Amino acid sequence: MRIGVLGAGQLGRMLALAGYPLANTFVFYDLSGNPSVGLGEVIIDRDGEYLDDFLSRVDRITYEFEHLPVDVANRMAAVKPVHPTPRSLEICQNREAEKTLFGELGIPTPQWRIAESAADLEAVARELGCPVVAKSNTEGYDGKGQAVLKSPEEAVRAWAAIGHPRLMVEKFVEFSREVSVIAVRGEDGDVAIYPMAENVHEAGILRYSVAPAPGLAQDVREDAERYIRTIMNELGYVGVLALELFETASGLVANEMAPRVHNSGHWTIEGAATSQFENHIRAISGQPLGDVSPRGVSCMVNIIGEHGDLRRILELPYAHVHLYDKAERPGRKLGHINVLADDYQELVWRVRNCASFLPGAPTFSCSLNRG
Ligand code: AMP
Repeated sequence: MRIGVLGAGQLGRMLALAGYPLANTFVFYDLSGNPSVGLGEVIIDRDGEYLDDFLSRVDRITYEFEHLPVDVANRMAAVKPVHPTPRSLEICQNREAEKTLFGELGIPTPQWRIAESAADLEAVARELGCPVVAKSNTEGYDGKGQAVLKSPEEAVRAWAAIGHPRLMVEKFVEFSREVSVIAVRGEDGDVAIYPMAENVHEAGILRYSVAPAPGLAQDVREDAERYIRTIMNELGYVGVLALELFETASGLVANEMAPRVHNSGHWTIEGAATSQFENHIRAISGQPLGDVSPRGVSCMVNIIGEHGDLRRILELPYAHVHLYDKAERPGRKLGHINVLADDYQELVWRVRNCASFLPGAPTFSCSLNRG
């Protein structure tokens, strides 16, 4: 099958790496002018001139990046199957639409309001009670376009710093940890759900994902699985969906979702029987889904900004290195390392050892070794 991918970054690269063994070919459609996928055929189309050309070369279309015009996805969907649906894309691009959907489906969210001016933001911060997190309603990712307000008086500064005409303002959630659930739904409606991951962020960027999330209560896991299943069924979703959640003393609170393979699922490449990438390809090409069981315990370590001492890391028998062939730049995702172990104690030791060769990596701290 000829698979067309909207976007041409590292997620597309890993989709293709998983899709070639099943005899698929890939054409990437890049609107940014800066593709980094490094394989397959890439159509760079900043002005939308080559849409028909792209469409003529593919059988199915999917995304690896959600910040692209919905009308482009809709135009494509009129001609070829697009998975997941452009509606899923539209909702994931807009925090207000996303949180509204969560509410309609009975999925808990932080208390939220929309602010359209600095004065609005101040009033909302007063109403919800600080701290609050203000986020650009569209176009935000990796903690960009966000500010935490410790008091309503900070509204003018935060409004100017974010520089966006419409903000999602959320009550700050006192979470014990951040977790995510990743699931895949096939064309026939079959759903497979990976073990959840515990995610460690620094400055809004994911640094570590541990899976299966240690010590997760069964009822919490069941809640997450019910939430993601409900969303997928509601959207008639086909492919991989990721849902990021906060775990609190009173249960899970949904943060956001991504209509694509997700960084917190990279551990599945070696850590699960079938990776999220292969399962996404299977789903969108109408094939049966693969087994999502874990192989031991895993931690994904992101390589951010600089590559570090890769020679030393490559010598570690338990570390699987994945590089995206990108130039070093502060804050940029350059690759990741999947560390596998038979038990969590061994995993912590291995991850610490691995991270010691990555300058700038924060000390590995998660529910396994905190306090
Ligand atoms: P987001 O772009 O919405 O995923 O936010 C990036 C990060 O900011 C999250 O991974 C959290 O660490 C933090 N964050 C976002 N929203 C909240 C919230 N309502 N309460 C507490 N922390 C938050």
